[in-house]
Amino acid sequence: MRQTLLRRRHLPRHNKAMPDPTVSNQVDAPHSHSELPIERIKPDSELVDLMRGDARWQLPVHQHGFIALCDVMPRLVMPGQTADAAIVQAARVSYGAGTKQVSEDRALVRYLLRHRHTTPFEMVELKFHVAMPMFVARQWIRHRTANVNEYSARYSIVPDRFYRPTVESVRKQSSVNRQGGDEPIDAGTAQEFLQLLEGAESNYRSYLSLTERGVARELARAALPVSVYTEWYWKCDLHNTLRFLSLRMDSHAQQEIQDFAKAMYRLIHPLAPVTCEAFMDYDLQAMQLTRLEIDAIRSGQPLATQNKRETAEFEAKKARLGL
Ligand SMILES: Cc1cc2nc3c(=O)[nH]c(=O)nc-3n(C[C@H](O)[C@H](O)[C@H](O)COP(=O)(O)OP(=O)(O)OC[C@H]3O[C@@H](n4cnc5c(N)ncnc54)[C@H](O)[C@@H]3O)c2cc1C
Repeated sequence: MRQTLLRRRHLPRHNKAMPDPTVSNQVDAPHSHSELPIERIKPDSELVDLMRGDARWQLPVHQHGFIALCDVMPRLVMPGQTADAAIVQAARVSYGAGTKQVSEDRALVRYLLRHRHTTPFEMVELKFHVAMPMFVARQWIRHRTANVNEYSARYSIVPDRFYRPTVESVRKQSSVNRQGGDEPIDAGTAQEFLQLLEGAESNYRSYLSLTERGVARELARAALPVSVYTEWYWKCDLHNTLRFLSLRMDSHAQQEIQDFAKAMYRLIHPLAPVTCEAFMDYDLQAMQLTRLEIDAIRSGQPLATQNKRETAEFEAKKARLGL
C-alpha cells in the first residue's frame, strides 16, 4: 500500500480543463501505463509529404494494365529527406550512434545492401494498386511476403479487358531457354495467334449472358482465358519489393511481368533513390561468380564441369567481363 502511494505521488496530474484524447481516464491501475498521458513529441521541423500531396502515382502498362503507388511508409519526412532516412534510422539503432561519425547516410545504405543486412529495408512499406492479366498475376502471387487483396470474381462480374500483344511483340519460342521466348515470330504466324486470342475473348459474351441467366459468377469465370485482367492491392516492404524486382526485372523473367516490374521500379525510385541506386549497383546489374568460375579464371583452365548450361553461363559472364 505504502509503495503504491509513493508511486502515485510521481505520476503527472491530468488537466481536467483541457480534455485530451491521448490521456487515459482509467484510474484503477495506479502503476500501469493506463494512467500515464501519452507523450506527444513534435518533429524537429515541419514534415513534408513524400508523395507531394498526391493520391497516387500511376503508370500505364500495356493496353489495359496499370500500376499505381497508393501509399508509402514513411510518408511524412523531414524536408530534403526521402524514405532512405528510415533505413538509416533503423540501422543506427542496431549499430549505435558511433556509426554516425564513421559513415554518412549514403555510404551506410550502400553498405547495408552490399552486405545483405536486410531488415533496415523492411522499415519502408509500399502499397500498390495493380491491374494485370491473370497469367502475370499467377507469377506475381508467388512472392509470398506481400499482403494482397484481389478483385473477387465470385462477387463481381469480371470486366471486359484482355491482354493482347502487338503483332511485333508475339515472340518465338526460345531454342535455348525452354521457359522463354525471345525474338519476334513472322507476321503471318503472329496474326494467326492474335486471332486465336480474339476467339478466346469472344467467350466473354457467353460468360455475361450465362451469368445474367443465373449461372454463379464463381463458376462462370472458368470459361475466361488467362489473358483476362485482374486487379489487386499489393503491400510489401522495400526489402521484399527489391527481391521481387531482382527476379522480375531480370531478363529471365517473362517480358510481360518485366514490364510491370520496371514500371514499379520507376515509381519507387523517387521515394528511396539511394537504395534504388545501390540495388542497381549491387544486385540487378551485378553478377555472382561461382567457386568453379573463380578457379577457371585464375588458372586459365576450362570450367571444371560437364554441364553445358553452366558452361554457357560462364561464357556469358566472361564476355561481360571482357575476358
Ligand atoms: C525466371 C523465373 C522462373 C520461374 N519458374 C517457375 C516455375 O517453373 N515453376 C514454379 O513453380 N515457380 C517458378 N518461379 C517462381 C519461383 O520459384 C519463386 O516462387 C518466386 O520467384 C518467388 O520467390 P521467393 O520464394 O524467393 O519469394 P517470396 O515468396 O517473396 O519469399 C522470399 C523468401 O522468404 C522465404 N519464405 C517466404 N515464404 C516462405 C514459406 N512459406 N516457407 C519458407 N520460406 C518462405 C524464402 O526464403 C523466400 O526465398 C519462377 C521464378 C522466376 C523469377
